[in-house]
Amino acid sequence: MNMLIMGAPGAGKGTFSRLLREELNLNHISTGDIFRENISKGTPLGLEAKSYTEQGKLVPDSVTNKMVKDYLENLTDKKNGYLLDGYPRTIDQAKAFEEMTKGTDLAVDTVLVMDVPFEELTRRITGRRSCPKCGEIYNIYSNPPKVEGVCDHDGTALTQRKDDNEESLKTRLDEYSKNTEPVIGYYYEKGLVSHVDALGDKDEIWTRIKKVLNI
Ligand code: ADP
Repeated sequence: MNMLIMGAPGAGKGTFSRLLREELNLNHISTGDIFRENISKGTPLGLEAKSYTEQGKLVPDSVTNKMVKDYLENLTDKKNGYLLDGYPRTIDQAKAFEEMTKGTDLAVDTVLVMDVPFEELTRRITGRRSCPKCGEIYNIYSNPPKVEGVCDHDGTALTQRKDDNEESLKTRLDEYSKNTEPVIGYYYEKGLVSHVDALGDKDEIWTRIKKVLNI
């Protein structure tokens, strides 16, 4: 399966990507995670992306497209397919991605869209904490760790993303409506889109996802 997972910031793409990756043994590619990793290591790509991501703006298409292209070229087990989270996020990225994957085994065949009402997103984003070591994602309101502030798996102190504040979130939501929602329309016309209601508890949503994807 070559799948894109789409949805507004806070829709749960990261959380369910982790479950889908395990269930289907897919290569998981998250452009947000790749940017954050490069920023924390201080690479040239990280330095270029830092000011955009922290303000909640999209990184320029030329930078992001090149990063994804390099990643795909270096993918070793292409047969397993992929789960791409956070890309394409603009129509130009979608067109560039189509060009990159044309005539290969990597063309998109499924687009999963996670639907959450806008009012719910702020609560999810401001309550989100994650483990810098294993990547597990928590929410202080709806999915807290067993012991406040530390990861259930490895006891590491949880951290909050720099862009998970109300000001950056506003920009991220604007970017989403302006640039990313049209991408859903682009894939809808190709007949690839499945929507899932992503409001509710984690187990319920997971059951719905498995049902719409028939897995
Ligand atoms: P979100 O929770 O907002 O969906 P992500 O972790 O996917 O966050 O992305 C975080 C930030 O990384 C974005 O706000 C943006 O600055 C940058 N980014 C990630 N993917 C892309 C992309 N495809 N195009 C441009 N910028 C991106």
